[in-house]
Amino acid sequence: MITSIRRSVSRLPRGSLNYYRSQIKFYSAAAIPEFQKAVVFETNGGPLIYKDIPVPKPRANELLINVKYSGVCHTDLHAWKGDWPLATKLPLVGGHEGAGIVVGMGENVKGWKIGDYAGVKWLNGSCMSCEFCEEGNESNCDHADLSGYTHDGSFQEYATADSVQAARIPPGTDLAQVAPILCAGITVYKALKTANIRAGQWVAISGAGGGLGSLAIQYAKAMGFKPVAIDGGDAKGELCKSLGADIYVDFTKTDDMVKTMKEITGGGPHAVINVSVSTAAMQQSVDYVRPTGTVVLVGLPAHASVESKVFDSVVKSIKVAGSYVGNRADSREAIEFFSRGLIKSPIKMAGLSELPRIYEEMERGEIVGRYVVDTSK
Ligand code: NAD
Ligand code: ZN
Repeated sequence: MITSIRRSVSRLPRGSLNYYRSQIKFYSAAAIPEFQKAVVFETNGGPLIYKDIPVPKPRANELLINVKYSGVCHTDLHAWKGDWPLATKLPLVGGHEGAGIVVGMGENVKGWKIGDYAGVKWLNGSCMSCEFCEEGNESNCDHADLSGYTHDGSFQEYATADSVQAARIPPGTDLAQVAPILCAGITVYKALKTANIRAGQWVAISGAGGGLGSLAIQYAKAMGFKPVAIDGGDAKGELCKSLGADIYVDFTKTDDMVKTMKEITGGGPHAVINVSVSTAAMQQSVDYVRPTGTVVLVGLPAHASVESKVFDSVVKSIKVAGSYVGNRADSREAIEFFSRGLIKSPIKMAGLSELPRIYEEMERGEIVGRYVVDTSK
């Protein structure tokens, strides 16, 4: 069929060409089913229903990706609970760390082919024409479309993604391993850039035993920094050390975090990457960061704020900066670190249908590393 369309294309008037191109793409993807498995919720905090839903059709600018694996990020839990001051789409298919294979695409897509490996990221798409997009700050775009939040995400077997923003994953990559890089990896890599520190300097990772933190330790190492990992419990401590943290501080066993952190690092870490979901931990980091250092806020506890005393901020000349995922260049670079073998995802495998149990474990802070779900189970 494809060959016969291709043969006849050369004899057609020019206007028909796009139609036939889209037909070639359509026929290439003939094995796509009409229905698929997904986890859907209809109200924030309501039942997470594992059920059959129609396979979405890609719009003109979109890829259709057969998601093989998806990481489960704490953001997915926030989206389900609806605890941020930003409404989710409802009903919603969550998920934004989806790694899979391109099986279809709209007629305006350029530079992708069927069979390419592609990733569904948090930033599904943006306007690409505002001041923020123009300067590579697409995640700050007013029209940012967010996977698993305003756009059905990767907790389904087939997901759509804007072809400009979809992550390019090199052929032959282990799709389960790369999944957490698509949000957690990109986010912590960008946060470490935001910290603006030099090789050899101390960086504290607060929340180091979780999904973002376990990757942050490794990116910090690969970038030449000295990571101090902070989290709670022995299991997370063992993971942090195995991933290369020079020191582990257990916040559940430390009375005075500010004093301890200053002692360990000889005056405070040069930067702190806050990936915990704890307001108290974020507040402490403003107090123990080294003079002239940077506190990077990444974790998003609901309704939280941190106080930076004007006198201390001025006299210590510290910076408190927010960091929000990363742009296309950050994504490509974060994936390159992974492809070079510098980053290993500490993953636990589960089936998509097990998502409610995973959220319960996440809520209790019990997950060591990252869960990755197989969308076919
Ligand atoms: P996670 O649940 O896997 O990890 C959080 C970790 O913080 C856990 O290991 C927990 O034990 C630890 N923790 C809890 N209290 C702590 C304390 N007082 N001190 C130190 N550690 C503590 O979550 P995750 O998937 O890594 O996500 C973390 C946060 O980052 C979430 O709020 C998520 O929404 C947010 N996030 C932000 C961005 C962004 O672009 N800014 C991107 C992705 C995720
Ligand atoms: Zn995420």
